[in-house]
Amino acid sequence: MDYCKYHPLDGATYACRACNICQCDKCVDDEHRAAHCFVCGAVLESLGSANTVEPFWRRLKEAFKYPVNANSMSLIVITALISVLATLMPFLWILSLVLYLFAAGSIMKYSFTCLERTAMGEMKAPDVMDAYSGGITLLLQLVLMTVVLTVIAGAAYYYLGPALGGLLGFIAVFSYPAILIRFAQTESMLEAMNPFAAVALMAAIGLPYGLLIVFMLIMMTSVGVLHEWIGALVPAVSYLLQSIVSNYYTVVMFHLMGYMLFQYQEQLGYSARSDEDDETPDRSEQERLAAKIDVMLKEGDYEEVVKLYYQAFKKFPNEVIFFEKFFDLLYVCKKAVLMADYGLTYLEFLNRRKRFDKLTPTLKQILFVAPDYLPDSPTMRVQLATLLKQQGDVKLAVKLLNGMHKLYPEFAGLPDAYQLLADTLDEIPNMHAQAEKCRQMAVQLKRKVDERQAALALQVEQKRAQDAQALNKTTGVKAVRKGPPPGTTLSGITLELVPLEPVVAKTDADDATA
Ligand SMILES: [Zn+2]
Ligand SMILES: [Zn+2]
Repeated sequence: MDYCKYHPLDGATYACRACNICQCDKCVDDEHRAAHCFVCGAVLESLGSANTVEPFWRRLKEAFKYPVNANSMSLIVITALISVLATLMPFLWILSLVLYLFAAGSIMKYSFTCLERTAMGEMKAPDVMDAYSGGITLLLQLVLMTVVLTVIAGAAYYYLGPALGGLLGFIAVFSYPAILIRFAQTESMLEAMNPFAAVALMAAIGLPYGLLIVFMLIMMTSVGVLHEWIGALVPAVSYLLQSIVSNYYTVVMFHLMGYMLFQYQEQLGYSARSDEDDETPDRSEQERLAAKIDVMLKEGDYEEVVKLYYQAFKKFPNEVIFFEKFFDLLYVCKKAVLMADYGLTYLEFLNRRKRFDKLTPTLKQILFVAPDYLPDSPTMRVQLATLLKQQGDVKLAVKLLNGMHKLYPEFAGLPDAYQLLADTLDEIPNMHAQAEKCRQMAVQLKRKVDERQAALALQVEQKRAQDAQALNKTTGVKAVRKGPPPGTTLSGITLELVPLEPVVAKTDADDATA
């Protein structure tokens, strides 16, 4: 049994032959029909739930307990009694044969039901009455197959001599479980008796099949030994005991065969978990991405992890889990550069989620990892500074606002920012002179912004007038000659647009000198 590389306590359901690892359902890319490896992208080999099943020799104890319940035990004992009764009336050989066949058939049918149920993953012995609900055709087929095998082995022994006959007999015993398993699988006698199918099944199961046979032989021998021990004393009691033990072993054996079918379901071409698969809904893209991030993190491919997180931020801009996890990761791992990159993204995410209470604590966490960090957004700086000033952390607030007119000369909120800076400086001792300077700066900036706005308004008006003019002109032209769109041929429009730019630059330059 293999375990998931990333969940060492969970059984693996897939294997990547390229990476030489095993994964569970969670740790694979199941976006397409065939599961792919998160690490290398190769198509994975499905291990099926077969792999998550313990091998049969590890649960022999449970297998021997399998028939130990009132229900199954009474059947075992009663059929044993009947077969003993059959041997006690040799004078009525027909009745004796019928009784014997009845006993053998009953235990056979029950055992076969055990095999089928176990193969479906049911690890509790079925109810005896349950086992007989089906028709007797199945039972007859079972008996017929057993008889055919015995006859073939017997005939070989008789006609071909003990050496070849013994070999054929051994082959018959060896393939008997395979035939039964095939029969349970296909419910067709012809399919089951096909020697090629039996060989294919043995090849698919491999060594454990051999172990099963060894196990069966040990059981058969133990019945013989039992007979040796007490057979000499009381033949009838000995026969009864033998019969009970062999019945009991039969149930255990069939249970083990069923278990083998369950364990090797994938190789044997059927799946006992197909029902479950239909019930579990497919993972969402988001869950899949989260799983991939987990795998890459456990692989230690941090570059990929960072890439995946940024993908996630783009695709799921409102998904708390990605943003928080990445932040925690960077914080715990003290990744200063990455944190400086990510800081603003996370702060803006908190803003989107209206978690204003978390803004300043987060900023302080970021600063703990990246001490020189300052968010590269004027709006965020003002927002943080406002909060910090309220909380009394004036130093940090000043740090955030300082020099903003150089960093963000185009920022419309500059006058307010400097007003805020002035108010903040007021709260620091010996900073009144500075505060006054800032206040003047704020006034100056305000004037500049106003002027710019006026210029902008003028510019918009001019443009509108020119547009109207141009429109009149072009419609006139268009009506006459249906030429290509205006502006491409006539330099008129493009020329009109060019002087608009210097108008802005000119006013700015004027302001700067003023
Ligand atoms: Zn896993
Ligand atoms: Zn791989």
